[in-house]
Amino acid sequence: MRPFLSLPAKIVVLTLSSLLLMSAVLTSVTLIRLEDDFTKQQQITQRQRIQQFDHLNNALENQLRSWLESFAELAKLRQQQDFSEFANQLNSHYDSMTVHLNVENLWLLDDQLNLTYATAKTLPDRLLQLAQQVLTEQRPQSEMYCRSYCVKLLLLPLQNANGDLAVVAASTTLLDVLSAMRQSTGSDIAVVQYDPQRRPPQSALNLLSTSNADSMRSLFAVLPANLSMTDLVEQGIRLEHNQRTFRLMVLPLQVSELSYYLALADDVTPFERAMAAHRWQIIGVGLVVFLLLAVIIYILIFRLGYRLQRLSRFLPLLAQRQFQQFRERSYSQPWLFSDDIDTLQTAAIALSHELERLHHQVERNTQELENIAMFDLLTGLPNRNMLQYHLKKQLSAMERQSATVSLLFLDLDDFKKINDSLGHASGDLLLTEAANRLRLCIRGADMACRFGGDEFVVVLSGHQHHDYPFQVAQRIFDSFKAPVWLEQQQYFMTTSIGIAMTSHAQTTPDELIRQADMAMYEAKEQGGNRVQQYSEQMQQRLAQRLLLEQELKQAVAMGQFCIYLQPQFALHDGRLTGLEALLRWQHPERGMVAPDDFIAVLESSAQMNDVGYWVIRRCFALAKQLQVAGHDGVRLAINLSAEQFADPQLPALLAQWLLEFGVTATQFEFELTERSLVKNVEATLSLMNKLKDMGFHFAIDDFGTGYSSLSYLTQMPVDTIKIDKSFLFGMLDNSADYQVIISTIAMVHNLQLKVVAEGVESRAQLMMLKKHHCDAAQGYYFARPLSEPALWSFLAQKIQDGKLLTFDE
Ligand code: C2E
Ligand code: CA
Ligand code: CA
Repeated sequence: MRPFLSLPAKIVVLTLSSLLLMSAVLTSVTLIRLEDDFTKQQQITQRQRIQQFDHLNNALENQLRSWLESFAELAKLRQQQDFSEFANQLNSHYDSMTVHLNVENLWLLDDQLNLTYATAKTLPDRLLQLAQQVLTEQRPQSEMYCRSYCVKLLLLPLQNANGDLAVVAASTTLLDVLSAMRQSTGSDIAVVQYDPQRRPPQSALNLLSTSNADSMRSLFAVLPANLSMTDLVEQGIRLEHNQRTFRLMVLPLQVSELSYYLALADDVTPFERAMAAHRWQIIGVGLVVFLLLAVIIYILIFRLGYRLQRLSRFLPLLAQRQFQQFRERSYSQPWLFSDDIDTLQTAAIALSHELERLHHQVERNTQELENIAMFDLLTGLPNRNMLQYHLKKQLSAMERQSATVSLLFLDLDDFKKINDSLGHASGDLLLTEAANRLRLCIRGADMACRFGGDEFVVVLSGHQHHDYPFQVAQRIFDSFKAPVWLEQQQYFMTTSIGIAMTSHAQTTPDELIRQADMAMYEAKEQGGNRVQQYSEQMQQRLAQRLLLEQELKQAVAMGQFCIYLQPQFALHDGRLTGLEALLRWQHPERGMVAPDDFIAVLESSAQMNDVGYWVIRRCFALAKQLQVAGHDGVRLAINLSAEQFADPQLPALLAQWLLEFGVTATQFEFELTERSLVKNVEATLSLMNKLKDMGFHFAIDDFGTGYSSLSYLTQMPVDTIKIDKSFLFGMLDNSADYQVIISTIAMVHNLQLKVVAEGVESRAQLMMLKKHHCDAAQGYYFARPLSEPALWSFLAQKIQDGKLLTFDE
């Protein structure tokens, strides 16, 4: 991770650096200008000084010249014959001339350049040459020359009365000029001689005349060693001496030899100090401006940075879905103008609104999905998923508190019948009604849910009396007693309830549901509309059942089934009228197994049809044999299960087999129970009519055990009613059973049908049935169900002319 440097800090650093650079450049430009101005000023001064010097020089020359000219006038030279008088007067005024005009020496030369008068024996080098020039040109000449000091030489032409020419020459020191210069400029002044031969370079300068010899000499002593005369003339030099600053200028003098210069030394200390102060002022102002700008920029930029930081600090609130807080905290009113950050902020707030909307959308969708996933759409009750979740929660809560979880498994009785006969809309209404009633039967902490189809589950949790589940079951039965109106008809719902309870946290939801389901199944087996609690035996029974199912599957394949036949006799003459085919299972270990022990399991399995068709084919074969043996009138009664009877292929198969075995349909009677008849009334009726048209007979088996009325049953193409054997067993000592039998016989006859009594075991029963004109009977009294071989010997031994030999009329 790179070190963090905030955006404002970067901007500040960048801006300040450029500002610093700018002020540095500006200050340097100003300073350079200042320096430049100073140099120019120096050059001007230099030029002025030269002009001043020239001016003073000329003034001195003019003064001396006019004095000499007026002196010649006063001395009346033009009236004199020669120059001797004039020389005497010169001599007498020489002293005052030295004092007032600084004249050093005077010379008077005739036109032959002979010296007429002289204050000094030695003549300056150029004097004679200059005097010749004056005589020839007849006009004054002047020249400066220096030896150990500098001198100004002035030569004037003179004329006497005879017109003879002479030349007067005066030499004067430059001291006056120098001191006048000093007075007017304030500079120390000196005349210097430059001798390039001398070493070191600074000693090449030789001081001649000077206005202030001490000061000049000490300044010359501090001249730099590598001094260049050209630089000195062009630029001058700055010298430090005695804590003061001087500026030394050197100007070439108009002297016969070019190695003479005028040196001017100015004390520039106050000026330099002012300059330095001025420089510091500029730097100071630059610095202050820079600092001021820096502070302003800092404040501006750091506010930007602060606002950005603020925004980024609150952005995570969006991830935490605290949209309102984000908006409240991140919003700030723009100052004067809104800027990019305000735009960013507006965008972020718009984003928060959009995110909030999406969040709500997701929540709504999730809720809907949860509802779909957790609730049943038809009844609004929690569904199987919710049940699993709830049960898991309740069971794991049991680990912490000693409680019981009870589960009621409900299955509506005969729901399929209503659904099939009245349609799905009515079925849905029924389920909704059942759900509503269930809801009212439980406490708030309990849960009722739709398990699927017509199955419901109620979970009771928390501390409860062991009786509580049964109380709830009773409440449910009670609430179901009220009729339900479907298509202007009253229906009465009943339900079978299985109860399972657990106090072990280790029990899984599936286990508990399975136990309650098993108990419900038992309740159903026992006729429905009742409650059963789960017990270990149920588990064993179930295991047995599963084993049986397994064995039955193999039994079909291994041909372990056979049929036994039980004869039926007409009661008025003892004629053999029929033989009922009863299924037997020759179990390899258990021996002969009666149908009651396996028929129920077989009916609920896929093997029923195979076994049923096997029975039919076996009976067809037997019928053929009976026909051949001359027992033409004997009808074979075949028991049909509801499942088998619902098979649409049945008529076609029967027709095919009739042809195959060469038998007629009138030789057979199908026995159907009430229960199998009401399962799907319309389909059953059409199938019965079809088979009836083919010539088959129909009998209602076990009559009296169901709830259907006789008139209802006789709307069907039925030929025979078989009174259930349970009535026969009780008929002699139970008047109710007796009454059922005689009224059934009467009613059946009234409907022009035949009645058969089942389970006749005694002569007394037989007598009673005969007395009431029962058409036929079947039972142990006559014969037990017989194996096929036993049947043939029975027919041979006990039947003669189609009648039972032992029948007693
Ligand atoms: P079911 O149709 O009522 O058959 C009559 C039952 O009563 C037979 O029992 C028979 O042995 C018994 N029985 C006959 N006379 C007497 C008597 O005097 N006293 C006593 N105590 N019992 C008598 P089984 O053979 O055990 O058959 C039981 C049931 O199994 C039958 O009742 C029938 O509903 C069913 N069943 C038998 N064979 C078939 C079959 O091939 N297909 C189908 N679907 N069901 C069958
Ligand atoms: Ca039967
Ligand atoms: Ca029966």
